[in-house]
Amino acid sequence: MLIGIDLGGMSIKGGLINEDGKIIIKKSLPTGAWRKPEEIILDIARVIDMLKKESEEKIEIVGVGVPGIVSHNNAFLEKCANINLEQIDLKKELEQLIGIETYVDNDANVAAIAEYEIGALKDYNSAILITLGTGVGGGIIIDGNVVRGSHGAGAEIGHMVVGENFYDCNCGRNGCLETFSSATGIGKYTEKLLKESDEDSILRNYEKITTKNIFDASKIGDKLAKNAVDRFIKYLSIGVVNFINIFDPEAIAFGGGVSHAGQYLIDLLNDEIKKSLYSKDVEIAKIMLAKLQNDAGIVGAAFMAKKL
Ligand SMILES: [Zn+2]
Repeated sequence: MLIGIDLGGMSIKGGLINEDGKIIIKKSLPTGAWRKPEEIILDIARVIDMLKKESEEKIEIVGVGVPGIVSHNNAFLEKCANINLEQIDLKKELEQLIGIETYVDNDANVAAIAEYEIGALKDYNSAILITLGTGVGGGIIIDGNVVRGSHGAGAEIGHMVVGENFYDCNCGRNGCLETFSSATGIGKYTEKLLKESDEDSILRNYEKITTKNIFDASKIGDKLAKNAVDRFIKYLSIGVVNFINIFDPEAIAFGGGVSHAGQYLIDLLNDEIKKSLYSKDVEIAKIMLAKLQNDAGIVGAAFMAKKL
């Protein structure tokens, strides 16, 4: 039996998971992200303990997915986005509290592992998951191994520079993929188009425009929305072709909120990618939608630890 923990800004979610990736039971506690680190860690241990009590079998291993950079062989939490945890040997702290072997990883890697083990990428050996949400994240798995880099700071997919943009990225650079091809990126660009032109668009009827509104409007031929979607696809395609040129994976899956645009997104992306391939005569990665939803963090964390 395995335990997977998905540490988020709002809650510490955990699950007792069997070898097939089935969640037997889930437990959670609020994160209280700005509390003292020791209080947050104690509550992570509490969730693990609640799950452990539910298991009749021995817990083999615990995996924790965190929104941050993890180094030193899945042990040391360098820093965390929006949670008051940094410079902590989280593996050691948790092992001391719960007495079970524990590993920690970045949540994007964990999501990729979940897709790789039981989701859309399960039939492939080398594959990439790209999540298109508020930002752009993801994980790279080559021949079964997660590409984490030497210091745990690798595979920051969203911060690959793919062009020049009209606003800077949170990371301080200009032109990062996530400033073009995330919900935030397409939202900002659509607002700019609406403000700077008088072009007719059904998007003018909405008080607050969502990514879904933009993609839906584009699907039914709204020119302004199509313009925004085309730009989103153009830069995403630059990023994807970079990945194909460097890694030549078997498959690339897309998850995150924006991926709810579904096959429409995949078809547009496939058309754009074909235009700019370097190795035009060679078979390329299959482009597909990710499969797993909210529980991917829990399942992926457990499998991450098991795979190490
Ligand atoms: Zn950036």
